[in-house]
Amino acid sequence: MDARLGVFLFLLVTVLQTVVGNKWGYDYADGPKFWPNSYPNCGGKQQSPISIGVSEVVVNNSLPQFNFDHIKNVTNLKMTLENNGHSVQIDLKGNNLQLSGGGLPGVYNAEQFHFHWGSEDKRGSEHNINGKQYPMEMHVVLYNSQHGVFSNALNKTGGLAVLAFLFEIGETNHHFDEIISHLTKISHKDDHALLNTFALDSLFPHDAGVYYRYYGSLTTPPCYESVIWTIFKNHIIISEEQIDKFRHQVHRNYANETDRDISDDYRPVQRLNNRVVMTNAEEGLYYNNCKINLPFNFYFMVLLFLLISKL
Ligand SMILES: [Zn+2]
Repeated sequence: MDARLGVFLFLLVTVLQTVVGNKWGYDYADGPKFWPNSYPNCGGKQQSPISIGVSEVVVNNSLPQFNFDHIKNVTNLKMTLENNGHSVQIDLKGNNLQLSGGGLPGVYNAEQFHFHWGSEDKRGSEHNINGKQYPMEMHVVLYNSQHGVFSNALNKTGGLAVLAFLFEIGETNHHFDEIISHLTKISHKDDHALLNTFALDSLFPHDAGVYYRYYGSLTTPPCYESVIWTIFKNHIIISEEQIDKFRHQVHRNYANETDRDISDDYRPVQRLNNRVVMTNAEEGLYYNNCKINLPFNFYFMVLLFLLISKL
């Protein structure tokens, strides 16, 4: 065979493998069950997300608080909002947003943050607590600065750290206005929009002192088991109206295709296997999210009201 033809065929196969291999999603046909076929790491023993059963969590008093002083830096920061077809992501460039403390082995630089959300309030988060899923989850993805760049850290043990925040529905959260007001500009895959910079920690809950810690993976292909996970106990509040804009203003398709929402871009929980989830404080052992409490109280109050009104 002609050498040039050989090179051409090799390149053609490589390109085709890349194109086919990159076709992953959350539908039945390309969904999480099939990821291990193209991405063997997705079938590993230390995968994410997981269900955190608070009664099995272990308190580790040697886990310190995080130092958020340098993650709020906006000098020379460039924030780019992007629709990558799987999520809404904000790329952070031009300045190293550094994070230390929290028991991390070194200084970590923030690379990007993104969201997972559901088409309904009862689902959307990747991690769940005591079996309860939340409507949205934000991931701040950081890499260990000793690897120099994100791509070098991606597949190294402890190379990445992800800060995960769960959302609950409540009042309007104006800290998300800058992102949400630009969603219509990234309504299709590969769309980008430049944001006015803001302090990253303004999105965090007021008290981000209590957290859960375990070792896991990227929750999307190639699912490398390189992530030190932190899930904060306190939630971010967002309104129904705000989350609805994530649900319906951004689509997973290109502009010339039929619009389909990105919603429900979460991977189901993975086996814990022999891993242990830790918390940095006693408060981590208590989580008031019993699903029965609220409706029961509601019916009890209605009954009480009816009884009193009869008297
Ligand atoms: Zn994520």
